[in-house]
This record gives sequence, structure tokens and C-alpha cells, in this order.
Amino acid sequence: MKIAILKESRAGENRVSVTPTVVKSLIGMGLTCLVESGAGVASHYSDSEYAELGASIESRIDCFAQADALVQINPPISEDIQRLKVGQLWISMVYHRSNMDVVEAINSKGASLFSLDAIPRISRAQSMDVLSSQANLAGYRAVIEGAYQMNKIFPMLMTAAGTVTPAKVLIFGVGVAGLQAIATAKRLGAVVEATDVRPETKEQVQSLGGKFIEVKGVEVGSEGGYAKEASDEYRKAQREAVNKSLAQADLVITTALVPGRKAPILVDDEQISLMKPGAVLVDMAAEQGGNCTKTVAGEIIEFQGIKVIGAVNMPSDLSANASELFARNVWELMKLIAPKGELVLDRNDEIVQGSLICSAGEIHHRA
Ligand code: NAD
Repeated sequence: MKIAILKESRAGENRVSVTPTVVKSLIGMGLTCLVESGAGVASHYSDSEYAELGASIESRIDCFAQADALVQINPPISEDIQRLKVGQLWISMVYHRSNMDVVEAINSKGASLFSLDAIPRISRAQSMDVLSSQANLAGYRAVIEGAYQMNKIFPMLMTAAGTVTPAKVLIFGVGVAGLQAIATAKRLGAVVEATDVRPETKEQVQSLGGKFIEVKGVEVGSEGGYAKEASDEYRKAQREAVNKSLAQADLVITTALVPGRKAPILVDDEQISLMKPGAVLVDMAAEQGGNCTKTVAGEIIEFQGIKVIGAVNMPSDLSANASELFARNVWELMKLIAPKGELVLDRNDEIVQGSLICSAGEIHHRA
């Protein structure tokens, strides 16, 4: 099986889906690796590093002409879909539920689509879970970005000139990114509070030394570990529960997402007016519409002295670690779907079933 590692075409993307070390492992498994020239450059991996480990460096056109499977991080652009051939396998994140047009287009070319973001969140698939590996790094980066934009430090400081009180950090959404944000903010010395619709996150917050803000009296529930959409009643109760902490916070990080939907609004215009001038809000849900009404994706806006950061593609800012972990996730997946160097897509396997979105002219998952 020939696998091609493509150069990302998304503007500002610094990551690469497969690093030279993982290319070596894939070749060791019996795969032939083609690498698009320049694929690793933004992550500081040169073509010669890939070539020395056995990859063949090709143009994008030649990758499409020769490969059985093509791998990248971001969804394909339309030119890529047009280049696909019957029977070829496209592997990347696609977020099929909100990108059914991409799925239809790939399917109409007779190609197959393996969507990495759709890998089921089961124990056996943890090593392939690109959402977790990237969200973990993004959670760290959000705290660092927030700290950089703040005009105060995180830890308590006792000096001859007086005592500096620790920063207060409030985190909305305690999934993978939120948990790493709590851990990072705690390590830097902040006092951390967090809230989530899933009550099971209370213990996780407390185990990291944070205080959990409970929204009492209204249940939202979850499905397969993911949050369901919160009701207006929950939203009202949540406002009451968090507003005092919001007014005191130096840094707010919002991470709340509901699969297949626009991100829920957790900090509206009225609530942001409660925040202190000088405070910073990092909205990690900016690309899904934002958790704050003032968020503009990709921009930092100032409102009444509060900075609102519309965080976009934070893992790309940590491309060394992000590429390394993404590549390991891809390697683990290849061990499942090409164990002896040849593609074996077992549709009875839960992981394949969840993430093979279309194949042989058939769409298996719809929005
Ligand atoms: P996510 O990115 O989908 O959402 C982030 C967080 O926002 C979630 O914790 C969610 O509950 C919360 N949220 C949604 N609406 C909210 C609202 N209105 N108010 C407050 N919070 C809200 O989540 P994720 O990081 O992808 O994690 C989703 C689930 O998957 C979690 O249960 C996580 O533990 C689980 N998970 C399992 C595995 C595995 O077993 N392989 C791996 C990773 C994650």
C-alpha cells in the first residue's frame, strides 16, 4: 500500500500529519511512503529528513497519481477532491456532520473517506484519538495565550513591596481542553474554578485542585460522553451560578462544544459587561461560532477594557508537539487498518464503522 503525506493547504497551518519518525515506522510495517515536497517545513521537518528515513518526495500531483491513501490533518479543498481517483482513500479530519457536501463530493468520485475526528471515544481507540491529542495541547496554549495578554501574573507573590494576590481563572467546559487548561493554570499558581453540564466532571475538576461550580436543579445529560444541548432553563441557572465568578475572573477560558451544533453561548453581552476591565477571555470555540457573543474568530477585540480572543487552530501554534502526537495517532490507526502493509477495512470493527464515512460509492454516515 502506498500512503501519501500531504502538505496542509489551510492558511496558517504549521502542523504535518506524519513526522519523519512515524514515516520510518510505517515503512517498517511494509507501507510505501510518499511525502509531498515541503509537507513538514512549517513544523521544521525537511524533505531530506523524510527522504533519509525512506520516503519518496513527490509533487502534490504525483502523490494523488500514485497513492492508495492520502493523509493530512485538515479537510480536503475542492481541488483535492477533484484529483481523487476511484478506490483511493482520503484520511483527515472532516467533521462530516457539518461538511456533508465534502462527503458527497468524495463519494461521487468513488473514493473512500476515513474521518479522524469520527473515531469513537472508546478505550481501544484512545491512542488514535486526534481530537484528544490536539485539544490537550490547545488547552495548554489557551492558558499561555491568556497569561500573555493579561496585565498581571498568575501566582501569589510575597515581596518586600507587598503581597500580590493570585490570578483567578474561570473555565467553561471540562472536556479534554478544559482539563488541561485547569491543570496548566493551577501549575502557574492561579485559583481555578470550572463548570460543565456533565456532572461527572465535578470530581475531575476537584482532583486537579480546582473548584467546581455546580448548576443546581436542571439536568442536561450526555450521550456517548458528549454533552447534549442545554435548555434555556439550564442556561438561566448557569448564568446565576457563574456570574459572581465571572465578575471576579482575571482570565476566562471557554471550551464548550456540542457535537454537530453551533457552540453554545455561555457569556453574552450582559455577562461580559460584568467582567473586570483588564480581564481576558479566550474563546476556544471561536471556530464553531464562539461561546461568547463578542468573539470574532481569529481576532482579539477589546470591549470595555476586556480582551476577547477568538482562538483559532491553537494546536498549530505548538506544531512540534501537535505534529508528533497527530503522527502517532495516524500510526496507531494504520496498525489497525493496514497491519501487514495492505489496507484491510473491516466494517465490523467499531473503530472502522464509526470513522469510515463513505466507501465504494456508499455514504455510511449522514449529518
Ligand atoms: P467537547 O470538545 O465536545 O466539549 C467540551 C466540553 O464542553 C465538554 O466537557 C462538554 O460537556 C462541555 N459543554 C457543552 N455544552 C456546555 C454548556 N452549555 N455549558 C458548559 N459546558 C458545556 O468535549 P471533549 O473534550 O471532546 O470530550 C467529550 C467527552 O469525550 C468527554 O466525556 C471526555 O471525557 C470523553 N473522552 C473520551 C475518550 C476515550 O475514552 N477514548 C477520549 C477523549 C475524551
